[in-house]
Amino acid sequence: MKRVPLKGLSFDELQSFAESMGEKRFRGAQLYAWLYAKGAQTFDEMTDISREFRAILQQSAHLGNLEVVNTSRSFSDATTKYLFRLEDGAAVESVLIPPEKKSPGADRRLTLCVSTQVGCPLDCKFCATGTMGFSRDLTAGEIVDQVLQAQRLSQRRITNLVYMGMGEPMLNYDEVMKSIDILTDDRALNIGTRHITVSTAGYADRIRRMADENRKVKLALSLHTLDNEKRTGIMPITKKFPVPELLEALAYYYHRVRRRPTLEYILFDGFNDTDEDLRRLIAVSKRFPMKVNLIPFHSIAFTHLAGIGAQLRPTPRERIESFAAALRTANITVMVRNSSGQDINAACGQLALSTP
Ligand code: SF4
Repeated sequence: MKRVPLKGLSFDELQSFAESMGEKRFRGAQLYAWLYAKGAQTFDEMTDISREFRAILQQSAHLGNLEVVNTSRSFSDATTKYLFRLEDGAAVESVLIPPEKKSPGADRRLTLCVSTQVGCPLDCKFCATGTMGFSRDLTAGEIVDQVLQAQRLSQRRITNLVYMGMGEPMLNYDEVMKSIDILTDDRALNIGTRHITVSTAGYADRIRRMADENRKVKLALSLHTLDNEKRTGIMPITKKFPVPELLEALAYYYHRVRRRPTLEYILFDGFNDTDEDLRRLIAVSKRFPMKVNLIPFHSIAFTHLAGIGAQLRPTPRERIESFAAALRTANITVMVRNSSGQDINAACGQLALSTP
């Protein structure tokens, strides 16, 4: 008999599961607390559950723990990259990102970047994950357990989450949202919706769906250029959802949910960092309240790219700073993301199961 993986089951599903095992429904609530609030790794830890039921559980279910295969720590900052093996042998990475020391509340904040798919089908030309191709979607349990394992290994509470690891979250919408429901539940991990960001390469239809469902998590669009033709060159998904359609979807989201979306903008030297690019970005950012994250481009030469991906170069630091200053002068909220974890291939766009 195939054993049921319990991580990823909701409160109601665990209650029904307990009932299907001939137990009272509240046993499911106990399992829920052990799995998600207390982070149990074995059934033996669940001391308020009878020995008999635990023995039945050993036979019929398993916790669904990810196996930690490797932990890489950055020499230059406190970034940590975890490599997890899944039940079927596939692997994904998650990255623990330290806060910038000067930022308010930095000592209490700890962010994890989680993966949502094994590989990614979208083939963005600047992204290491895109070169891997796509294997499968992760389950909600596999997403949630990245957080539980990172908490266990770091011995610290994860306070913030970004769905920006391997994969396009919107292509795995149901499991991603189920994982968020568990992670934000105050009977489980109790992470605030304001502390969770879901990023998309540009699925306008799912952005609208998030708005219609009044999903209160933060939304980030990986925009990178407003030029539709250029964007199609580096992000083929643009053929399906062109830039104007994406901006309309963002406006729809803002007006329904009343949360400012973030535009993610990786700066490539001479490609999207000209004065004309800046002028267009300022104009768009003023249409309704939004934030802009400027991201330095991190080399993915280790993936041996060809074509346009091999030609992209990072914008020099001074230009990134002047770009940011011009946006600030135009009263746009802008943040320049740091490049933590670059030395362990853990920075933005570098996740591809590689070690430096
Ligand atoms: S940037 Fe995101 S969507 Fe694009 S290939 Fe990489 S993981 Fe996929």
